[in-house]
Amino acid sequence: MALKGLDIFKLSPKKNCKECGSPTCMAFSMKVAQGAVDINACPYFSEDAKAQLSEATAPPMKTVKVGTGSEEFALGGETVMERHEKTFVSKTRYAVALCNCMSAEEIDAALAGIPKVDYERIGERMYVEMVYVNYSADGATDYVELVKKAAALGRTLILGCTDVEVAKAALAVCKDGKPILNGATPENYAEMSAAATEAGVVLGVTGADINGLYDTVKALEALGNKNLVIDTTGATVKETFANTVRVRKAAIKDGDRSFGYPSIVNLVKVAKDDMHLQSALAAVFTIKYGSIVVMQEMTYSEAQPLYGLRQNIFTDPQKPMRVEPGIYPLNGADENSICLTTVDFALTYFLVSGELERSGVPCNLIISDAGGLSVLTAWAAGKLSAGTIEKFWKEQDIEGKIKSRKLIIPGKVAVLKGEIEAKLPGWEVIIAPAEAAQLVKFLKDMNL
Ligand code: SF4
Repeated sequence: MALKGLDIFKLSPKKNCKECGSPTCMAFSMKVAQGAVDINACPYFSEDAKAQLSEATAPPMKTVKVGTGSEEFALGGETVMERHEKTFVSKTRYAVALCNCMSAEEIDAALAGIPKVDYERIGERMYVEMVYVNYSADGATDYVELVKKAAALGRTLILGCTDVEVAKAALAVCKDGKPILNGATPENYAEMSAAATEAGVVLGVTGADINGLYDTVKALEALGNKNLVIDTTGATVKETFANTVRVRKAAIKDGDRSFGYPSIVNLVKVAKDDMHLQSALAAVFTIKYGSIVVMQEMTYSEAQPLYGLRQNIFTDPQKPMRVEPGIYPLNGADENSICLTTVDFALTYFLVSGELERSGVPCNLIISDAGGLSVLTAWAAGKLSAGTIEKFWKEQDIEGKIKSRKLIIPGKVAVLKGEIEAKLPGWEVIIAPAEAAQLVKFLKDMNL
């Protein structure tokens, strides 16, 4: 049961010293109760008080860590149902599935396909972060050998295996990479829990229906294992969606900590061989509440819309997406190439740089610090002006780095031309078209 602000206030130091950033202990207590700040932001709460409050003020969903090194991922830790209430914190991770029931050729093709998707978008690496290795008792391929091959890719593994002995053998060859053992059922949970605990890995809980899942999680918690993820995959798409939403709702809205774990959604089970449906469902479960989404394959066709969606969902809507201010040479530009400038709002940057690349004209795109705002908003807010450009030119020593003295400015702020020329003597300021889509023709017509 979540604590109220008054309960927290009763245990607070009542110094009203403001060191936590809140004007009073009461205000701080209210924020802690809403989950808006961590209780440790106050240095004066006694350890005793913190211990009393920690269970009740902990996030409704546990944060679980899997993988190691650069492949370590945090899952869960969410506090809200909707992203507009507060930022979602742990982005959905995508896995591609292998199975020992696949032929050797199919396995090789799948393994070769996984590293092919690997690119950067707005400073974030987009690639298949996890590999799901499914065990089928009828599979002709040796499961442990398959796990070894999958581990060689260097991605975090999920072992989909409900056979305790096979799972132990597989863990023996991959436990150092901190995989997930997705194999606890109502029948085997005690042995699986012991195997996962001994290997130091997270245990995935599966069940025939949501009630079975709940009972198994409760039983595992009674054994002392809270290092869990919940496989919400049902027999159909409808059931999978209902399970995934109900688990999240139970944790966040109803405060039921037994469902307060990250989820795995296995689309291969509910939409096998239908990549169009899997792509659509992966988008759905990125928004509604898959911590890990397992797919049959990930090519650029699936990845580009999906990763773009994920990047938008798992960002703070109150903080604009920005790119690093600086000089971006495009199309083999050098110090003599013409310059263009625009703002650091990520969408503006990608639109403009995409059109510039399409033009093939060597040019230096100079991105100034405009607080991550779009051109007109930055101009209206005083973050894009002749003064800010002059300041940026000095800070970055643009004139020391670039010999060209031609600068194209966004058409929407044509009004700045005269002021910029006054602030940057020797520069010829040229006005670009109002829309980025017109840049290719504009640059080509300049015959640079
Ligand atoms: Fe109260 Fe602690 Fe905040 Fe000081 S830092 S105002 S004692 S809650």
